Amino acid sequence: MNNGYQVIVGLEVHVELKTNSKLFCLCSTQFGASPNSQTCPVCLGMPGVLPVLNQEAIRMAVRSALALHCQVHAFSKFDRKQYFYPDLPKAYQISQYDQPLAEYGWVGIRSGNGETHRIGIRRIHVEEDAGKLNHLGQRLGDATGSLVDLNRAGVPLVEIVSEPDLRSAEEARLYLTELRATLSYLNVSDLRMEEGSMRCDANVSLRPAEYQGELEDLPRVEIKNVNSIRNVQRGIEYEVQRQSERLAQGERIVKETRGFDDATGTTYSQRSKEEANDYRYFPEPDLPPLELEEAWIKNIGDGLPALPEAIREDLASRGIPSKDAEVLVLDREAYEYWCAAADLYEDERTLTNWMLSDVSRLLNARGESFARASVNPPSLVELLRLIDKGTLSGRMAKEVLELMFESGKSAAMVVEEKGLSQITDTEAIRAVVLAVLREHQAVVADYLSGKDKALAFLVGQVMKRTRGQAKPDLVNQLLRDTIAGDRE
Ligand SMILES: [Zn+2]
Repeated sequence: MNNGYQVIVGLEVHVELKTNSKLFCLCSTQFGASPNSQTCPVCLGMPGVLPVLNQEAIRMAVRSALALHCQVHAFSKFDRKQYFYPDLPKAYQISQYDQPLAEYGWVGIRSGNGETHRIGIRRIHVEEDAGKLNHLGQRLGDATGSLVDLNRAGVPLVEIVSEPDLRSAEEARLYLTELRATLSYLNVSDLRMEEGSMRCDANVSLRPAEYQGELEDLPRVEIKNVNSIRNVQRGIEYEVQRQSERLAQGERIVKETRGFDDATGTTYSQRSKEEANDYRYFPEPDLPPLELEEAWIKNIGDGLPALPEAIREDLASRGIPSKDAEVLVLDREAYEYWCAAADLYEDERTLTNWMLSDVSRLLNARGESFARASVNPPSLVELLRLIDKGTLSGRMAKEVLELMFESGKSAAMVVEEKGLSQITDTEAIRAVVLAVLREHQAVVADYLSGKDKALAFLVGQVMKRTRGQAKPDLVNQLLRDTIAGDRE
């Protein structure tokens, strides 16, 4: 609730499928090629050419729909959505209107108290992307011209439309995060919001406490094409604030499309919102209906990988704290790295700690990802085993790990070259302990008078003289024993 209004949010997410070729022609879908180099008469909208459906795109769309618990229809069809814009050469987009590929799915989101609830997915349909306009000048308002790049025209998309089930900007963030994580395990899209391979429009309305009508009939503002999950959240927060202030002043909310300004965190009016009948949808005459065999759909369902919900359960059953598990689940590369290492190493909690602290820190510092880490899972496990064997202390292992990242060498090689192995020889350490005690008799007296901190100082002195290589618990023990022995 916000000033007596309930926040109602629905999200429309467009996801580019990473097929090799476009939805209705053989042009490449590779991102970043020079403008208009990946076009042909079909995606340029030339007269007299016919679209041919890319089956791989349908397979990826079905995979996505099943992973999102949707019912995939054996029969759906394509329709023309007609509008004029310079990035749309045919002046219509081939999409799916009244008979979409899939319906009735859900995404589970977990609120602060750890409970999961389901956000409905109304429909998932397949459509082609439009091209891209590159405006000349600093801002759209003062652009001196616009260049049309049609490389993206005809790239396959799925549009995932949620029910208006979200009740806050935070829930929208959770939904998008979970949706993206789920799709990431399917390998169907790059899911890069900053490159536009995942895009989100947010519909935001406020429902007065006394309102009993349909949610669909509330005046709704659509925030268009925001480029990060964080900004979707910010845009909704701003819009809730703006609308509630308007309503409090007795004004009405106008149904419209608004843009989001990243710099100020505000939304601004773009145009009044179209209704579906403005598009004059009609069945696409150049494509037959999409008929899928039940066995084919079932086969795709049977081949789905483990998805976030199941992975969370598995990690919990293996004793991984839920906070750590969440980091792994939401980053598929990290999770795959973890799995590869956990196959070789039994102490999974220790493994998780190393991965999420030191390994992550070094990856970030070096601009590497888990998938392309200089230290791979077997190498990390080798390092952890050296700690278990007592060859390295935890502190020394951190140093070794850093050197492994820098040199690309194995833990054993780094230890050998740097002469880094831990001193576990009691007699060798005892000699240093005796020397330290002789030199710091005042500190020993402090310790004996009850100052526990004095012992830490003495441990520090021994570690310094052994260049950090003495086994710390052994040093501790020897110091206590020796001092106690001297008193007797
Ligand atoms: Zn083409």
